[in-house]
Amino acid sequence: MLVPIELYSLTQRKGYLSPDLAIGWQIGKYVEGFFDGLQEVRIAAAAEGDAAFALSYLSREHGYPGRITVPDTSRPWDFLFYHTITGTVLHFTLIRKYIELPQGLRALEPHLAMDKPAVVKIYRTGLDLLVESILKRSVDSFSMIRQIRCRALHAPGDNGTTRCCRCERPTSVHNAWDIEGQICCQACSGLEPDWFTYH
Ligand SMILES: [Zn+2]
Repeated sequence: MLVPIELYSLTQRKGYLSPDLAIGWQIGKYVEGFFDGLQEVRIAAAAEGDAAFALSYLSREHGYPGRITVPDTSRPWDFLFYHTITGTVLHFTLIRKYIELPQGLRALEPHLAMDKPAVVKIYRTGLDLLVESILKRSVDSFSMIRQIRCRALHAPGDNGTTRCCRCERPTSVHNAWDIEGQICCQACSGLEPDWFTYH
C-alpha cells in the first residue's frame, strides 16, 4: 500500500498502521485544510488511542503543542475541534460500518494469540484492506461532520449576568458563550472545560 510520506513517518513513529491511526490522520488532514493549518486549533478526542495519537502528532509536526483533550465522561462526538480565531467548531462522529472490521474478521480476534499463522494472515489482510479503504475515502464519507459557530460573549467592562438559554441558570457574561445565536453558560457551550483556561 502506498501511503503519503507524512503518514509514513507517523507509522514509523507508532510502529504500525492501524485503522484508528488512519482515521486520526485523515481527520487531522481534513481539519488542517479546513482551517488552513492547525494553529490555534483545540483538539479533543472521545477516547485515547491511535486516532488521538495521530492528531497529536499532526499538531506537533506543524509546530503546535500537540495537546489533545480526552474527557473522562462520554461526549456526543468522536472528535471535536475548536478554531479559536474564527470561533468555528467542528464535530466528527464516525459512521461505524465504514471504519470497523467485518464481524467475521472480528470473530478471529480471540484466536490471534494462538499459534495459527493462517488465521493471522487472513486477519492481517482484512485489516490492511480496511486501512486502505479509510485512506481512500473522503472524511465526510466515514464521519458525520457538524460545523458550529461559537463566540465568547464577554465585552470588556461588562460584569453583568445573563441567563443560559439551555439550562436556564444565571451565568456571568464573562463566562457566557454565543453558540449559533444562543447564549449559553460554559457547561452548555459544548466546548471542553479545560479549554476555557486558555481564554
Ligand atoms: Zn447552561
